[in-house]
Amino acid sequence: DTRDIATPKRTKEILQKYGFSFKKSLGQNFLIDLNILSKIVGAAELTKEKGVIEIGPGIGALTEQLSRQAGKVVAIEIDQRLLPILADTLSPYPHAEVVHGDVLEMDVASLIQERFTEQSSVSVVANLPYYVTSAILMKLLEERLPLENIVVMIQKEVAERISATPGTKAYGALSVLAQFYAEADIVTIVPHTVFIPQPNVDSAVLRLRIRQKPAVEVKSEKMFYRVVKASFAQRRKTLSNNLMNNLFGKDRKEEMLAMLEEAGIDPARRGETLSLEEFARISNLIL
Ligand code: SAM
Repeated sequence: DTRDIATPKRTKEILQKYGFSFKKSLGQNFLIDLNILSKIVGAAELTKEKGVIEIGPGIGALTEQLSRQAGKVVAIEIDQRLLPILADTLSPYPHAEVVHGDVLEMDVASLIQERFTEQSSVSVVANLPYYVTSAILMKLLEERLPLENIVVMIQKEVAERISATPGTKAYGALSVLAQFYAEADIVTIVPHTVFIPQPNVDSAVLRLRIRQKPAVEVKSEKMFYRVVKASFAQRRKTLSNNLMNNLFGKDRKEEMLAMLEEAGIDPARRGETLSLEEFARISNLIL
């Protein structure tokens, strides 16, 4: 059967045939709109030479469209009940492969090395389970995987946070860490009606183009993370208060103020006004 999976009719047929019931705890909201799918797939800029990792294929709505554009698709699915369904729905696409497991527990670097030997590049494309969006994205970025880009459907608020610029309300630790590794842009905002069942939140398609090297030079990524996380720990507090409470400790206040002075950064500023370059300057002075 090579009819598109992502229509209300075919999706209902498949769900019924297998008596499938959605698990809310696994963030199961399946796509039933071909327009949105073509926007997601288009944003990934795929060719037959390229490979794709999909996280959470569901019944294969996106997997199918990816398989038509890319040379190889490896889809990681946690829910065992979906495996026989996927074996059926993806049978017309021999270069789509399903791996059973939790992406957060998986060695994705080895997976890329072992399964994409013939592809010129690898992208991650997914309609992510919303309960673990940030954890999945941070894993993909922090592990420095050899990815060309990441195109994901996520909660609108999270997409806005990731792509936010300094001085805006949405700007936070997630913006800084994601933009350290990638250029972020929102491809499109998505209405609830494209999913079954419909989620309670608005969604957006976010694209992360992975940088050749991080946006700013840091001596230690670990220290950079610690500075960023500490600086945003309490949004209403000043930078110096946050750094003192969450990184230096009260007894090292003088040392911390001297360091900020050397960095040329006003201790009364808030973390949300600092650029990536300023966070890098601070963290490079702490080592
Ligand atoms: N790609 C399908 C679509 O667009 O119709 C389904 C998307 S649904 C939002 C998220 C999928 O991720 C579900 O199939 C769910 O079972 C799976 N999932 C949830 N947590 C996961 C995890 N930790 N690792 C891998 N897959 C997961």
